[in-house]
Amino acid sequence: MSVSNELGQSLDRDNLDKQAMGDTLREECGVFGIFGHPDATALTALGLHALQHRGQEASGIVAYDNEAKRFHSERRLGLVGDTFSKRHVIERLPGSAAVGHVRYSTTGETILRNVQPLFAELDGGGFAVAHNGNLTNALSLRRQLVRDGAIMQSTSDTEVILHLLARSKRARFVERFVDAIREIEGAYSFVGLTNKKLVGARDPLGIRPLVLGELDGAPILTSETCALDIIGAKFVRDVENGEVIIVGEAGIESHKPFPVMQPRPCIFEYIYFARPDSVVGGKSVYQVRRNLGTELAKESPATADVVVPVPDSGVPAAIGFAQASNIPYELGIIRNHYVGRTFIEPTQQIRELGVRMKHSANRAAVAGKRIVLIDDSLVRGTTSVKIVRMMREAGAKEVHFRIASPPITHPDFYGIDTPDKDKLLAATYDLEGMRNYIGADSLAFLSVDGLYRAMGHEKRNPEKPQYTDHCFTGEYPTPLTDKTGEITPRQLSLLAEAS
Ligand code: SF4
Repeated sequence: MSVSNELGQSLDRDNLDKQAMGDTLREECGVFGIFGHPDATALTALGLHALQHRGQEASGIVAYDNEAKRFHSERRLGLVGDTFSKRHVIERLPGSAAVGHVRYSTTGETILRNVQPLFAELDGGGFAVAHNGNLTNALSLRRQLVRDGAIMQSTSDTEVILHLLARSKRARFVERFVDAIREIEGAYSFVGLTNKKLVGARDPLGIRPLVLGELDGAPILTSETCALDIIGAKFVRDVENGEVIIVGEAGIESHKPFPVMQPRPCIFEYIYFARPDSVVGGKSVYQVRRNLGTELAKESPATADVVVPVPDSGVPAAIGFAQASNIPYELGIIRNHYVGRTFIEPTQQIRELGVRMKHSANRAAVAGKRIVLIDDSLVRGTTSVKIVRMMREAGAKEVHFRIASPPITHPDFYGIDTPDKDKLLAATYDLEGMRNYIGADSLAFLSVDGLYRAMGHEKRNPEKPQYTDHCFTGEYPTPLTDKTGEITPRQLSLLAEAS
């Protein structure tokens, strides 16, 4: 019998998997594109493998074969390694240019027709597109496009780009692409492929990351630098907010079709989404997370014998907290890294035994001790309840909890799978209520200004916030058209033109 709490969240003992319990924000998607390399597909598969943390539901690659003058596509549900580790699959995707995508669905069911890259034959040739982010006016555009006769192939927000491109009357591809992205709102990093060009674009605020790299003279566009590191590619620079990059035989063109805006990248990329070995916006993600722990120790110290990270995402902050507090750091929780591969389905009776598939307590490190647990964020709180109970059952004398980010009080609409507001613990309880709920002796979160200090700023600039941070502040950086239902004047322009 499954036990649930008053928020309707499952309390089954064994499942400490934050992801499985939806008790974490999930980044949705990673993109990779390369132009002018004989091993384009194999390199794309490796890049996607390095981006697997950005999406585990499905993956896909589209390659363009210059000799045969045709596109080849392979899209599958499952992990990158499940599909693209097989030589015969790579051999089915010949070509010197390719784009790829790893997916975790925010919009559109987890079905094959939503797996990216999406492809369409347009006037002037085929175009494959892969998207990280979420378009906050996709529904309104979609409704209008269908009303005007468009036939949708998927339920993904990304597909509207293909239809808007198809409707532009401009001659050059780049002009048509700019026409299309001028109509969309929200967060996006795109990589796209035509029979002649690799395309990259970042939304006017640069909410989702995109970097430019190079390998053996072949330009690469991808979500994170870890995808460059895995193939030994050189990091060239970040794609700027509002920039469109066109890579062709003649080299790299950069276009800035939007009015200049101050970049506001998603601050959660630093807290949790990006891989710790990635450099985002010139900052080492690992170093930022250590700084979060250091600022947390300054703001909310704890009287404890050991600092224990909630692995893996809590590790860098726990190191920073331990060093700043001068309290020993101990691996009090051991993570089983092979949960994803286990096929041992415990029976209900086994589950009652409290099998712990992913995390287990390291008694030697916590028994008889006052411990302070460090985690990167707290969303629904269900995992924290279990971790506190697990530490107590392992003999911890006191269990203090410190969260290396501010309370999450608002859902995201920019490509992150967040529970509804009423499922967010911090949107339901005050601090004491949350402490009581997770069963800790004390609980504290990093402040918003502490978060900004860890990022290297004196504090948050309320007039011109340096980052997108609305899951903590409720200040959404762009209109939420689909949420508010109003159609903006700009959208009418192309549709008027189309009708
Ligand atoms: S709500 Fe904003 S800051 Fe939070 S994850 Fe989403 S884009 Fe990032």
